[in-house]
Amino acid sequence: MNHGPATVGQLLREIHEVGRDPRRGGYSRFAYGPAELELREWFVEQAARRSMDTETDRNGILWAWLPGPGGSCEQAVVTGSHLDSVPGGGEFDGPLGVASAFAAVDLLNARGLTPQRALAVVAFPEEEGGRFGQACLGSQLMTGAMDPDRALGLHDADGISLAEALTGAGVDPRHIGRDDEAIGRIGAFVELHVEQGRGLVDRGQPVAVGSSIIGHGLWRLTVTGQGNHAGATRMTDRRDPMVAAGAVVVAVRDVARTVQDARATVGRIEPTPGGTNVIASRVEVWLDIRHPDDAVVPMLVATVTERARAVAAAEGCEVTLVEESYGGSVRLDRSLRDRVGAVLPDAPHLDAGAGHDAGVLAEVVPASMLFTRNPTGISHAPQEQVDDADAESGAAALADVLQDLLSGPSPRQTL
Ligand SMILES: [Zn+2]
Repeated sequence: MNHGPATVGQLLREIHEVGRDPRRGGYSRFAYGPAELELREWFVEQAARRSMDTETDRNGILWAWLPGPGGSCEQAVVTGSHLDSVPGGGEFDGPLGVASAFAAVDLLNARGLTPQRALAVVAFPEEEGGRFGQACLGSQLMTGAMDPDRALGLHDADGISLAEALTGAGVDPRHIGRDDEAIGRIGAFVELHVEQGRGLVDRGQPVAVGSSIIGHGLWRLTVTGQGNHAGATRMTDRRDPMVAAGAVVVAVRDVARTVQDARATVGRIEPTPGGTNVIASRVEVWLDIRHPDDAVVPMLVATVTERARAVAAAEGCEVTLVEESYGGSVRLDRSLRDRVGAVLPDAPHLDAGAGHDAGVLAEVVPASMLFTRNPTGISHAPQEQVDDADAESGAAALADVLQDLLSGPSPRQTL
């Protein structure tokens, strides 16, 4: 090691200005866009400061390696998160996990740990789906949950294809897809993340252990009417999909309120053509639905669709529905969670209401999560917050967990 230990706060202050979004507030750090590429450079620099070798794998995932005895990268203990954000997102969702990972590496070095196996810090691209609309795209490609041909068909809001974005970042799009070599190297994955709710605030604790990740899907409703002139078209002659879309948004909320633990959100609508003096011809409505019980989600989607069709029909409009993505609820690995829980006996165990790369990886390797307290309880918005002291508690907890996994029995052998 050729530098003093860095705190999480110090590390995050280095990237404090990267990807600030003056229009929306907060940060817009889209995968393979200028801000995220700058953060990837910062990642490589942090790795170099710690004498870690970096690589970008064939799915664009960044890795920084501290090999184990004899240079082995087998059964590695892997930690990290993502660097991209939602539009106008907070400072901590993603980068906190990466900064905490590097800070934990420093703590382990300061403790003079002699690891029994390799340690890697990782950053997954397009975790938020903020650019190509597919959450956890990098990890889903790696595990094979996402078909590479389907991924290559994705475009961003400017019409730039994933293939073009990958090429621009130096990743060959012909080689994306399930990566058994990368999966095979992972002994265990531990993702630290800012808490995206109030579980820790309510419990008065700085750090939690994740127990499960609730199912999450994104659907696109297309409301079609008749485009026309805003001045010349009488109110009685209109089939206005914007009015229908407004009723759909209310219907979504009303349906979700009748189902316990359901979450349904319309956070984005897009009228076509989108002129100020034009009755739209079509409005796209994106629908985010979540529920801890996978059996409830299709019922919610069906009910919402039925209600949306009815309220749209009252405006002379039609509705079609396309599923953009869906991932079921994930129980994080029980044995690994018990082991992490034993290292952090005071930490409560919490369910995550948001999707994470750890949930995708949990399908193929033992995966675990830690959450750091967020005093506002707000996430995916500029008010997302982590206090410095809690960030250090999180990094210390992560270092304790990594130390146990690096020096105790191999995670996969004990599972
Ligand atoms: Zn995140």
